[in-house]
Amino acid sequence: MKRLWRCHVCNDVHWGNAPPEVCPTCGATNSFVPSDLGEALEIIGRDHPALDDREGVLAAWQWFSDQSPTVRLTAKADEMELLCKGVLENLRTKGQRYCPCRLPTGDREKDEGLICPCNFLRQPTFKETGECWCGLFVRRGTQ
Ligand code: SF4
Ligand SMILES: [Zn+2]
Repeated sequence: MKRLWRCHVCNDVHWGNAPPEVCPTCGATNSFVPSDLGEALEIIGRDHPALDDREGVLAAWQWFSDQSPTVRLTAKADEMELLCKGVLENLRTKGQRYCPCRLPTGDREKDEGLICPCNFLRQPTFKETGECWCGLFVRRGTQ
């Protein structure tokens, strides 16, 4: 079962069935210990950048695009703004930044896969069209 973990060397927080063997921040080996929500929130602090407005969502998408060797953000600015509105609307009405072009089922665990950016790289849609379902991310080297 997924839970929170904390690197006892650098206080990195990780959510997952098991922690990473090597801490991605400090490089320590087998350094994660079980944590909980209170401790994690204490570590993360109040100045953690929020993803509940346009700037936050666009910045997160840009970060994803910049570090990806495979995909980049669409060059269609109007569509990007529309999708951003859709994601924020889902956050407001359904509690998460769900994909604007797919319907959450109401099953929280299943719907985790719909939080944008989702895991679209492995989907047939991306392999066939070179785009995520909504066309927000496109394969590098295409228009
Ligand atoms: S299909 Fe595209 S827009 Fe939808 S969640 Fe995935 S990455 Fe975001
Ligand atoms: Zn660490």
